[in-house]
Amino acid sequence: DLVMEKILQRKSSRMRNLQRSWQESPEGIKMLNFRKSLPAYKEKEKLLSAIARNQVVVISGETGCGKTTQLPQYVLESEIESGRGAFCNIICTQPRRISAMAVSERVSAERGENLGESVGYKVRLEGMKGKNTHLLFCTSGILLRRLLGDRNLNGITHVFVDEIHERGMNEDFLLIVLKDLLPRRRDLRLILMSATLNAELFSNYFGGAPTIHIPGFTYPVRAHFLEDVLEKTGYKLTSFNQIDDYGQEKMWKTQRQLIPRKRKNQITALVEDALKMSSFKSYSSRARDSLASWSPDCIGFNLIEAVLCHICRKEQPGAVLVFMTGWDDINCLRDQLKAHPLLGDPNRVLLLTCHGSMATSEQKLIFEKPPPNVRKIVLATNMAEASITINDIVFVVDCGKAKETTYDALNNTPCLLPSWISKASARQRRGRAGRVQPGECYHLYPKCVYDAFAEYQLPELLRTPLNSLCLQIKSLQLGTIGEFLSAALQPPEPRAVHNAVELLKMIRALDDKENLTNLGRFLSVLPVDPKLGKMLVMGAIFHCLDPILTVVSGLSVRDPFLLPQDKKDLAGTAKSRFSAKDYSDHMALVRAFEGWKDAEREGSAYEYCWRNFLSAQTLQAINSLRKQFHFILKDAGLLNADMAINNSLSCNQSLVRAIICSGLFPGITSVVHREKSMSFKTMDDGQVLLYANSVNARYQTIPYPWLVFGEKVKVNTVFIRDSTGVSDSILILFGGSLCKGEMAGHLKMLDGYLDFFMDPGLAECFWNLRIELDRLLQR
Ligand code: ADP
Ligand code: MG
Repeated sequence: DLVMEKILQRKSSRMRNLQRSWQESPEGIKMLNFRKSLPAYKEKEKLLSAIARNQVVVISGETGCGKTTQLPQYVLESEIESGRGAFCNIICTQPRRISAMAVSERVSAERGENLGESVGYKVRLEGMKGKNTHLLFCTSGILLRRLLGDRNLNGITHVFVDEIHERGMNEDFLLIVLKDLLPRRRDLRLILMSATLNAELFSNYFGGAPTIHIPGFTYPVRAHFLEDVLEKTGYKLTSFNQIDDYGQEKMWKTQRQLIPRKRKNQITALVEDALKMSSFKSYSSRARDSLASWSPDCIGFNLIEAVLCHICRKEQPGAVLVFMTGWDDINCLRDQLKAHPLLGDPNRVLLLTCHGSMATSEQKLIFEKPPPNVRKIVLATNMAEASITINDIVFVVDCGKAKETTYDALNNTPCLLPSWISKASARQRRGRAGRVQPGECYHLYPKCVYDAFAEYQLPELLRTPLNSLCLQIKSLQLGTIGEFLSAALQPPEPRAVHNAVELLKMIRALDDKENLTNLGRFLSVLPVDPKLGKMLVMGAIFHCLDPILTVVSGLSVRDPFLLPQDKKDLAGTAKSRFSAKDYSDHMALVRAFEGWKDAEREGSAYEYCWRNFLSAQTLQAINSLRKQFHFILKDAGLLNADMAINNSLSCNQSLVRAIICSGLFPGITSVVHREKSMSFKTMDDGQVLLYANSVNARYQTIPYPWLVFGEKVKVNTVFIRDSTGVSDSILILFGGSLCKGEMAGHLKMLDGYLDFFMDPGLAECFWNLRIELDRLLQR
């Protein structure tokens, strides 16, 4: 140990010399001057001493004041300066991978280093850290995973949990775990950082931890609501077909009752137009297609276009940030703007996008200054709300919505719907315009709607299914699930907890007494929903992993099939070419992916994607996730070392179908044929519709009695996104019943079923299974 101490001391003094020589270099001085101009700098000493004297500190400050890039860096610098650099290990969590990457890069640059030296990052699938890394930015999910193997966070000296105001599920979860850990690790420092002023909530949670606010200076931003926007832009709302049912928009209903009677007529007309505009716009384009009653005119985009034109023609110079709901919408809008004579002219407008899945190279452009006389316009998701700061923004256009997963515990249905943002978010979005000079914000909704927004957004823990979370609680040995979750800042509904536990029992990740099974332990390591994790395990055991890797990766990244607004028919046709009478969106995905791999080998990947309406970026993400899953499965001994993962779709299609069923169950509907039309019913008799872009929506009849599906989305009716046709025998064998009883028990049961089992493909696979089980049971 003494030797170790010596080594670390020598390393520490080396770190100090490096740091000093940077700080004294001309560039270092310039950088330091910039850093000193940030509001956080004034509080530096106060912050460091609070961190030294308290185990937990809560820090709040406006976005851009220097929390993320400065505070962990202050700690690192002061440790290095005091000759203890090599002894400290600082972790700072981010809710999103892209911010972890962007921030670590920035901090490295501020320290005059390359990424991966003293500062690094780690996110799912990617990372950059070396043996000299002492400040690590990672996603909160990565830290949770690390806690799985290292319950005391040995060797870590400081943990910063950033963006806690967002109340993401992982952050809320981390706080429970860390709260439990603190008494065992008296020397560990926990620093919570929030962009809003509700620090009290967190301080109370940690027994009255001290709070520090960083006063920030931003320029005033003028807010324009829809009334104003319409006047300013001279934009006329075109008339719509009357729509009777606003069912899905509860908020609007209450809103209408809130409006004082005498202003009602005038405002109602406006609000209703706005309603059609904003709600229409924000539904995912695929859902929208299926809603015949909606007007095909894309008025939401047109209004944004009008606002952008107004800014470019009439307003002072300055970059524009447009908040959209999601990647789909951003893409569609970008295509539309590209075709515009002014906004699409690259000599006058630099059009960029900013969303969670963009490439790193694209990401850098956002921070750069555009050429003179060119206006930068960034189309962003709500990611640009708090975790990423673009300095030169002077104008903000806010559509008022964000895509948010909600969870209907009663019906056990997750829904992914764009919903109205909170007042806190709207303020936050507006604030993005006042970083360098006074700014303007165009809210594309009336003021009366803003007034009805909730103060804060509901914590994610209260609006998502808890499957993964409950599994993690078990594998971290944190006790009874219900008891543990009741210690959360705001505990979830018991009903939601119950549903998750039941699902985990059904897939045998937990046994009847809620103990973790071996399968469950394994699933908790896979960075994917437990149901999909099980699909991977089944794929491995049944020797058809290759297509299953693609399906699971696709389901957990996103659909690579694009659906451009103006070419929906062509895109649908392109997709259906991959279906080859499989009656399966999942298999179409596999074929598309395999075609892309071939095209890549021939050097024609770009052309292939273009022709088939596929997103190259998504395919790339699927490809790397596949590799990671493969690695984990191999590491766990689920694959014979020399076993190729070929077994492609063409080998045994019904087996692939069966494995898909095993992973997606209980997501199942029956196919009801009547005359020339089909309808679909879920197990509880609920009616569902297929997305227009599903290959199954293109057939008159489907020769399977059942469809299994991964995702349900509630719009006004429930839609299923991707589906695969399955037979009775597949459902009996690979549906829920398979999940009861232990592995050995299955085999007996399967033997019984084999009698009325007609499919030779499946019969063969059971033989393989038997061999495989033998092997596994012997280990
Ligand atoms: P906070 O976490 O409080 O929102 P940050 O620490 O992320 O603030 O950012 C502080 C300041 O650092 C920003 O206002 C911006 O001026 C600057 N900054 C952050 N990231 C970058 C970057 N990638 N490139 C240039 N400047 C940046
Ligand atoms: Mg930050």
